[in-house]
Amino acid sequence: MQKVRGILIGRMQPVHNGHMQVINKILDEVDEIIIGIGSAQLSHEIKDPFTAGERIVMISQALAEANVDPSRYYIIPMQDINFNAIWVSHVKMMTPPFSIVYSGNSLVKQLFSEEGFEVRQPPLYDRLHLSGTEVRRRILNDDDWKELVPSAAVDFISEINGVERIKNLSVKEVSEL
Ligand code: NAD
Repeated sequence: MQKVRGILIGRMQPVHNGHMQVINKILDEVDEIIIGIGSAQLSHEIKDPFTAGERIVMISQALAEANVDPSRYYIIPMQDINFNAIWVSHVKMMTPPFSIVYSGNSLVKQLFSEEGFEVRQPPLYDRLHLSGTEVRRRILNDDDWKELVPSAAVDFISEINGVERIKNLSVKEVSEL
């Protein structure tokens, strides 16, 4: 029987427990999920500190820790392009066929709806705290960020000295003002 696939695209800078809850929810609804690593070309910036490759490791280790069957997901880096009107074609070219798009991002929802895709908005889980912005803010302020991030991703961020990287990036940006 044909598999039903859904796609979730996010920058995941870094992956946090909100992303993990959404992924689990999507896996209740479809056979396979495509996890698109958005803005894959960006790294070493205060809002986008991690490379696409690093984000792939964080997510795959977090999914393994959560006992998600690896045959049920694809993780695919997705570079931004300058043309919103053809971005959906670009995404389709890079991914296995899918029929359902999951997003809370209004531009993403708009672009896929216009191309005739079914778009579903997953519930927002504790959005006040579960956001990449909040994780990065806590890292910079030495607040407890680890409670917001799957522990496998915490371990990997520590392995690559990710906290030090974010702090260095912020110092550089301030001195360059
Ligand atoms: P994100 O990591 O902020 O979020 C990813 C998804 O997870 C979103 O749908 C969001 O709703 C969901 N999410 C996040 N926190 C959640 C929570 N606490 N509870 C439940 N769900 C939660 O990433 P994003 O900014 O939405 O990523 C979109 C990507 O698409 C970006 O990389 C953007 O550049 C790219 N994009 C590119 C183009 C182009 O190249 N022309 C056009 C549109 C979008």
